Amino acid sequence: MKEKTKKKIMEKTGRLFIVSGPSGAGKSTLCRKAIKHFGNLFFSISYTTREPRPGEVDGRDYRFVHGGRFREMIKGGEFLEYATVHGNLYGTRKKDVSDALGRSYDILLDIDVQGAEKVRKKLHGGVYIFLLPPSMEDCLKRLDKRGDVSSKELKKRLKRAMEEIKKSRLYDYIIINDDINGAFERLKSVITAERLREVRMRGEIKRLFKI
Ligand code: ADP
Ligand code: 5GP
Repeated sequence: MKEKTKKKIMEKTGRLFIVSGPSGAGKSTLCRKAIKHFGNLFFSISYTTREPRPGEVDGRDYRFVHGGRFREMIKGGEFLEYATVHGNLYGTRKKDVSDALGRSYDILLDIDVQGAEKVRKKLHGGVYIFLLPPSMEDCLKRLDKRGDVSSKELKKRLKRAMEEIKKSRLYDYIIINDDINGAFERLKSVITAERLREVRMRGEIKRLFKI
């Protein structure tokens, strides 16, 4: 695609923010805070075959579906991307993203590194944010506290976390989630700065100065 055409698309559509990071880094917590804080920022509700955790709501946190339904959706070409993560299937529905971007809404995806790679190949102009815990010990403690994984599963997740962290260099921004308020300030800065990019402000300049 020509650079000029790509820029035109960026100018006209909403922004795509992709957040990845190891399990327990704090992705769900920070994404929830961002959605609450910003106007015109929507969460992409993924489909998953995993069981809901206590407090999770179908249609708000995830769309919880059975394996059969998920496979039907794969066959029907409904996913922008999907991947197996910790033994469960997770996917982003193509229509959810295209509808939001088409309406100039910004959309936030909390997806793993495999999914982020697939999105990068398919869509131009995404902002890729990698979230890290301050240490693996903290990550372990947080997962343990969340209480939804066995100690065997915890070990598997930590191993996978190290593999994921190696992929962090593919991302545009790195946020270390040490203190939640500090990390949220940094996430807000990224979203705000991305919204101020010149190419994103052209519509506003046209509106204000009629040029
Ligand atoms: P992820 O979505 O990356 O797997 P969560 O957002 O579910 O992670 O966070 C894992 C656990 O850690 C949750 O219980 C959450 O409340 C807690 N948590 C998140 N950020 C922090 C932080 N900065 N300090 C301490 N605990 C945190
Ligand atoms: P959890 O089950 O802890 O909410 O999420 C497990 C992992 O799945 C996280 O790394 C999260 O980012 C990822 N994930 C959530 N939704 C999707 C999705 O739609 N696609 C992909 N590829 N990963 C997802």
